[in-house]
Amino acid sequence: NAPLAEVDPEIAAVLQNELGRQRDTLEMIASENFVPRAVLESQGSVLTNKYAEGYPGKRYYGGCEFVDVAEQLAIDRAKALFGAAYANVQPHSGASANAAVLHAIASAGDTILGLELAHGGHLTHGMKLNFSGRIYNAVSYGVDPDTFEVDYDDIRAKAIEHQPKVLIAGWSAYPRQLDFAKFREIADEVGATLWVDMAHFAGLVAAGLHPSPLPHAHVVSSTVHKTLAGPRSGIILSNEESLFKKLNSAVFPGQQGGPLMHVIAAKATAFLLAATPEFKDRQERTLRGAKALADRLTQDDAKAAGIDVLTGGTDVHLVLVDLRESEVDGKQAEDLLHEVGITVNRNSVPFDPRPPMVTSGVRIGTSALATRGFGDAEFTEVADVIALTLMPEPDIAALSARVKALTDAFPLYA
Ligand code: PLP
Repeated sequence: NAPLAEVDPEIAAVLQNELGRQRDTLEMIASENFVPRAVLESQGSVLTNKYAEGYPGKRYYGGCEFVDVAEQLAIDRAKALFGAAYANVQPHSGASANAAVLHAIASAGDTILGLELAHGGHLTHGMKLNFSGRIYNAVSYGVDPDTFEVDYDDIRAKAIEHQPKVLIAGWSAYPRQLDFAKFREIADEVGATLWVDMAHFAGLVAAGLHPSPLPHAHVVSSTVHKTLAGPRSGIILSNEESLFKKLNSAVFPGQQGGPLMHVIAAKATAFLLAATPEFKDRQERTLRGAKALADRLTQDDAKAAGIDVLTGGTDVHLVLVDLRESEVDGKQAEDLLHEVGITVNRNSVPFDPRPPMVTSGVRIGTSALATRGFGDAEFTEVADVIALTLMPEPDIAALSARVKALTDAFPLYA
């Protein structure tokens, strides 16, 4: 029972180095966040030792009396948080939640209709190398080439043309809210099941700052680790009674074996915290931070450098920087921001003229910094640092110093 540093100093060094990296840089990858210590505690706990195939009260293993309590708490809290009659908290990840959803509501060869990957969709919504594109007949809708917003007339036309079994609403890179009622209307018109993947905006929904898909969708999936700020994992929710049993058996035994009870316990804590006023305040700061960033990146000096923001702004926790007119491409932007201490990811913009490894965009999110404690003043400062870094001849040393002042003022896991 020696400590990690003694048993495996190489891995212990990785943990220390990663903690240092998280502390000393500004994390602005839109899909990331910082979990509270309480969540780390569950995840690094003895619950990892326990097999618990099945569901609370109906397990295929003995000794589940305590993990049953954890899973039931996670289920009850998820249901209360999102207003769902059903919750499955076992998916190991967002992708495995999505695999289970499709397993429950479609059969091999059925047509599924989702947002094009290159326009902000996710791999599991029908990308050709992903299980979703290999098992199902995946077709896609895109965003409008002028507004860069989803075009409901196009979705409806595609739905009528392809008669999908499943209509998917949800995104990995899209800065606006979706109209779930409209999606449901289209799904009903063609007899499709509506599945909403709220992985990115679930935290905003939990805080009441984004419309909930639950009144409209047949089934909703999510990750727990993005805006929701819980452990890396997935969940499935529904108010469609005819699907509850199918969804449960699609997760287990359909997709998974033993659930990760340490992660499920951590999910329970994350859902508890997501119902607090502090969580709502954090989501509000997240949204204001994203707006401040969009405002700064659409000012005249940025425009003159060929920088813009897709759709002209944001309603959510992220901004999609449009560098199609800029001399700096997505890869260079990611590298420059890394140099000053800001972590982001390059991202293709719809109709991107540059190749996928280069891209003409950057996706920048504000969730993790809001968790770190940033408010309006700090987000205004970060926005200015980002804008100046992407403009011609950035003063990297001066910009790095401004980043350091921010990381020093907001210590992480202090
Ligand atoms: N769904 C959406 C919309 C996502 O953006 C992501 C992750 O980026 C996922 C699902 C998959 O989540 P995971 O990485 O946990 O498999």
